[in-house]
Amino acid sequence: MKRAYNFNAGPAALPEWVLQEAKEHWLNFNDTGMSLMELSHRSADYEAVHNEAKELLTSLLSIPDNYEILFLQGGASLQFTMIPMNLLPKNQTAYYALTGIWSEKALKEASKLGNTAISISSKNENYSYIPNSEQIEVPKDAAYLHITSNNTIYGTQWSSYPTNVSVPLIADMSSDILSTPIDVSKFGLIYAGAQKNLGPSGVTVVIIRKDLIKEDAALPTMLSFHTHAKNNSLFNTPPTLAIYLLSLVLKWVKKQGGVEGIAAINNEKAKHLYDVIDQSNGFYRGHAEETSRSKMNVTFTLQSENLTKAFLQEAKEAGFVGLNGHRSVGGCRASIYNAVPLEHVMELTKFMKEFQRKNQ
Ligand code: PMP
Repeated sequence: MKRAYNFNAGPAALPEWVLQEAKEHWLNFNDTGMSLMELSHRSADYEAVHNEAKELLTSLLSIPDNYEILFLQGGASLQFTMIPMNLLPKNQTAYYALTGIWSEKALKEASKLGNTAISISSKNENYSYIPNSEQIEVPKDAAYLHITSNNTIYGTQWSSYPTNVSVPLIADMSSDILSTPIDVSKFGLIYAGAQKNLGPSGVTVVIIRKDLIKEDAALPTMLSFHTHAKNNSLFNTPPTLAIYLLSLVLKWVKKQGGVEGIAAINNEKAKHLYDVIDQSNGFYRGHAEETSRSKMNVTFTLQSENLTKAFLQEAKEAGFVGLNGHRSVGGCRASIYNAVPLEHVMELTKFMKEFQRKNQ
């Protein structure tokens, strides 16, 4: 069977190897006579999968010992709430860098729970750029600074992170975790819904510095990081299938040469697409400013609304899936997460060049 050219923004393409591997063990996991989904989450067979996923992530991102990995539910969206609930005391202020709709949503939830402030914003330019990270300053007594490392909707990505900030840096890495090496020790907390670079939807990965995990009896039990950290993310039934698939995706990343290997392929994929845009003499117009371009979500429009529509229609007929821009901004978006093969990106570049030749 030929795999679709899947450029979905999330849930998104998974590596074929992961799907084959899961299929092979689908009916009889580890000689248990049952599928992984039917195992108890308290069984040794499941716990081995759970712990292996943590170990693989630790080694792929070189996560230091003073960090805890949590597997939670509720998507990245629940982290918009859990983070201020756990890390924003009443007498402090949390700072948010606004670089897109997801940062706005994170800020909105935090504002319901405590004092917040905007550190910087690129809203005035329709979120087409990432502000200079060196210029970001927040007061020393702030609770934390929150950023969105990759803006899935606008196609912008931080190429360097704020360094002049002494408070914990918190990053929503939902759409670029594991796409390029990062220094985890620079962050207080990193979180990501799995459904773009990590696996299927259903599990959210949180990497948190241990000193930020505090017991607070006033918090709802399930919304406390302390609960999940203390119980190895097994306080209640975790999304076992999603975590199993996450462990397979992590094994696949390792086989690609780890995050460094993946990053080299990601650079190549993004370069091919941006080259088509840049060499089109304005036929394709990138949304993001060049220095802020995302290597995960390539956003562009054509010269008119009608031409954009025609492009999307023809692309669909040619077998390209998910190229519509987010409903809030329109235009086109090619999401080229880790699992999107280079060959599929090359097919898209061919299609774009041919569409331009026929329509300019
Ligand atoms: N943050 C970012 C950067 C996202 O791209 C998304 C989803 N597209 C979310 C948060 C929300 O994630 P979830 O649907 O897992 O709550």
